[in-house]
Amino acid sequence: MSSQSALSQLNLWSEEEASSGDADGAVGASGSSGHNQPANLNSEARATVPEAALLGSLPVFRHPRAVREIRLGKALVAYECTRVRRRSIGMVVSDDGLSVRAPNWVGWGDIETALRAKERWICNKLVEQRERARRRVSAQIDWRAGCQVPYMGESVTVVLDPSQTGARFQPASLDASPCRHTLRLGLPHDAQPEQIRDATQAWMQRQARVLFAQRAEHFARQLGVEVKRVSLSSARTRWGSASADGSIRLHWRLMHFSLSVIDYVVAHELAHLREMNHSPRFWDVVRSILPDFEPARDHLRRVIIPE
Ligand SMILES: [Zn+2]
Repeated sequence: MSSQSALSQLNLWSEEEASSGDADGAVGASGSSGHNQPANLNSEARATVPEAALLGSLPVFRHPRAVREIRLGKALVAYECTRVRRRSIGMVVSDDGLSVRAPNWVGWGDIETALRAKERWICNKLVEQRERARRRVSAQIDWRAGCQVPYMGESVTVVLDPSQTGARFQPASLDASPCRHTLRLGLPHDAQPEQIRDATQAWMQRQARVLFAQRAEHFARQLGVEVKRVSLSSARTRWGSASADGSIRLHWRLMHFSLSVIDYVVAHELAHLREMNHSPRFWDVVRSILPDFEPARDHLRRVIIPE
């Protein structure tokens, strides 16, 4: 799967939506990693406030060079508009927001009609871009004592503990306060960010080796295939790969994600040992061992791998 364009384009009048370029559903990475988003802490509070108060929380997508505003669906969209010598109205949704390019002779009324006609597409793209931006930010871990690292779909707090050697994971316990997963690293309190990063990632890679081998064995047995070798990769563009000789490679950063996502990639690569393609037959093989893989596949398509 190729990386998704950060820029989604639509030429209104030709009705051509830009392809996301990942029709085959291969397990590729979009260049950086992602994690599950933290739950929206406001959702509960919002559910109890009266409708009128919600107006203030209307989703707003404001382009930095916005010249006009329009209400599209449940969102307020402030968009940039460039007048151009062209015959049709064009729209682009980028990280910045919505940009419209319109011919000089087209009035605001016509532009708004055109935007409303594409309301769903615009809103979906704006939400998608915002989520991507949010993931990109959360992908940048500030490596220091107390930092949170995404691990198997949850969050682990890094603790520096010079009294011990190596790294020790302690799952959250209701007895402990605060209740959270911790990773205790045998590092001095003044350890440099690079040391903390390297120790955490080395630990994560050790976990990956053990878990990936287990999951590969589990699915190989179901498929009746033989896995010669499971190795870790840190490829820039792929979550996994399989070779005809029976070896598979899996990106160690999959350890950031929940087991269902990890299982999807393992099952995907093992299915390639039966079908070296992405044909409907291949997907049938994946489905035979993992019936509900689609949400995991979709999740991976949206995330970005940290450098
Ligand atoms: Zn594949």
